Amino acid sequence: MSSGLTPARGPPYNGATPETIEQTLTDFGDPPAMRPSYQVTELLGDGIGAELSDAIHTLADALPIHLDFEPVDLSLETRRARQTAIYDEAVASIERTGVALKYPTITAEESPNQVLRRRLDLSVIHRPVTTIPGVPSNFKPTLDIDIVRIATGGTYDDPGRMIGDDGAVSLRIVERRPVREAAWYAFTLARKTGKRVTSASKYTIQKATDGLFESVAKEVAGQFPEVPHNVELFDALLGKVIMTPERYQFILVLNEYGDFLSDMACGLAGSLGIGASANLAFDPSGVVRVAMFDAAHGTAPDIAGKNLANPTAIFLALVLLLYQLGEIDVATAVKGATLDLLRDGTRTKDLGGHESTASFTEAVATEVKGRLGTA
Ligand code: NAD
Repeated sequence: MSSGLTPARGPPYNGATPETIEQTLTDFGDPPAMRPSYQVTELLGDGIGAELSDAIHTLADALPIHLDFEPVDLSLETRRARQTAIYDEAVASIERTGVALKYPTITAEESPNQVLRRRLDLSVIHRPVTTIPGVPSNFKPTLDIDIVRIATGGTYDDPGRMIGDDGAVSLRIVERRPVREAAWYAFTLARKTGKRVTSASKYTIQKATDGLFESVAKEVAGQFPEVPHNVELFDALLGKVIMTPERYQFILVLNEYGDFLSDMACGLAGSLGIGASANLAFDPSGVVRVAMFDAAHGTAPDIAGKNLANPTAIFLALVLLLYQLGEIDVATAVKGATLDLLRDGTRTKDLGGHESTASFTEAVATEVKGRLGTA
């Protein structure tokens, strides 16, 4: 997994003005030890979202920084009651804070992820996937890849239409700008971490769309001569990731290919429930402007409210958010504590363990406090 995104807003005081820090000190009498403070939009969801939010707050309390959460309720009930007004609120908050943590939401009339991606111009999805030693999986080798996926277009922007009764058609869209942003992002991180970039598509068949994608990837690669780059056909890549995973580091792909590859990679790592993503929007100079972090899994209605949800994916989403804030040591401690506990057998039921959401969270929080000296 790569070790960091491009900070959008520099630490240490993301959004907090000197006046608000002064105010805090005045309100609470003697100045406490100063903890860096960051505003974070918290997008509340459905199903297990409430338990995951409790888990995140417990973990946040164990950190040596202050995460000042600004909640926006994206539950289905509120979305139905407030319609676009609730999205206006979410977008305004994220534009202000620069970073958001999102819990899973029910996809009903609309997909909140799709609405937010469009409204915030989130053009790139970064999904790191690693095998976790000790977590049961059918896959024996080590996998450690960073999937960088163009978040828009492909076949996903057009639901298509019937042509008479016996045919249907849909458009496949590839645009230069998001491809350039995704490629720039992948090559920048690959250079930082000394890794290789593989771009994969079906350019031999989809000559216009995938051909454009590969030509933009090549153009950007030319600006990073020190980063190894190779091109592969996407179908062959799927097989080769399984057979020789050590050959792959950053993989740059169009929207639907990234969707398929992400779930396959999570399956190899042992669970769809341990994947997390960064959804990124960029300013014209290629720096991350706003970022939304979420778990790959859904609302898990079958286990909602039962204290059974595995918070690993949302913790890994928080890790990506901490990297984005520039809190590398804190991010590394949270990631290390979570993965080491899983490896040593402290696991929720979905991973064959006996822990509840709350007890696994307490274990991670205690471990993090020990590692960061905040006990
Ligand atoms: P799901 O991911 O919610 O559940 C699939 C299976 O995985 C279930 O058995 C569930 O119990 C289990 N699971 C999921 N997350 C888990 C966790 N953290 N811990 C333990 N077990 C977990 O997928 P679904 O049932 O297809 O979808 C349910 C709802 O979630 C749908 O409305 C769907 O649209 C929505 N959804 C939302 C997002 C999102 O907001 N990002 C993503 C996917 C699905």
